[in-house]
Amino acid sequence: MKLWRQLICLLMVLYIVLGANVAAAQYQNGIPVLLYHHVSDDSSDLPKLTVTPAEFERQMAMLKNAGFQTIPPGKLIAYMRDEPVTLPAKPILITFDDGYEDNYANAFPILKSMEFRAVIFMVGVNLDRDKRLSSHQVQEMSAYGITFGGHSVTHRDLTTLTGTALNHEVGDIKKKLTNVTTYEADLFSYPYGYFNLTTWDAVVAAGYQAAFTTLPGLNSSKQDNVYLLRRIPIYSTTDFSALFILLNANQPKTQLLEYSPESAE
Ligand SMILES: [Zn+2]
Repeated sequence: MKLWRQLICLLMVLYIVLGANVAAAQYQNGIPVLLYHHVSDDSSDLPKLTVTPAEFERQMAMLKNAGFQTIPPGKLIAYMRDEPVTLPAKPILITFDDGYEDNYANAFPILKSMEFRAVIFMVGVNLDRDKRLSSHQVQEMSAYGITFGGHSVTHRDLTTLTGTALNHEVGDIKKKLTNVTTYEADLFSYPYGYFNLTTWDAVVAAGYQAAFTTLPGLNSSKQDNVYLLRRIPIYSTTDFSALFILLNANQPKTQLLEYSPESAE
């Protein structure tokens, strides 16, 4: 009888110790950042970069049901800088490039229903344009907890620019967003994912705290740079169920995550 009790005690201790380890280690290979563009039933603009609302909801529900939690970008930045930060067991970031109106109409209600936050990268000249987000929508989404970041003023390939032209593309979208949202926009994403040392320098000089690329894989504080953050693009053709298995296992291998920038907006 005594032996049984000791065995049960031992099993309980093992369960607690191993359980705690599993819970604490689920982002040890890095934090995933997903990249979306359109969320719409109309794929006539950019078919590959358009995920239907039903599919987006399915993907968000899979993440939610598996225990993923969206973290504020500031927590990702702190983690990348090796600063003390408290993270959930399964942290993730959801991002959108280009600022399409369907992000508000279709993605936003789904994000809210999951209690997920997200980051949307805006192109300056498109704010308040047809089929793009309006200032009012940006403000409403900001009030909920969606973060807005810069994606240049005119969506040019920034690696072809230098000097004043480059500083205008990187710096003026920051000022514009800061005016609209009333908080300082400090995140940037490189148009088409294209960057070089000059664009990197311009992003740092403009005062951004982090920048997102389309390099595939997870973001590890030990291996990656906060100005070259990796993102996993989600296309209409992405086998999300297969990708989900990798995400849920915190699998750093990237065979499924390759990106083709020529097809990106
Ligand atoms: Zn873009």
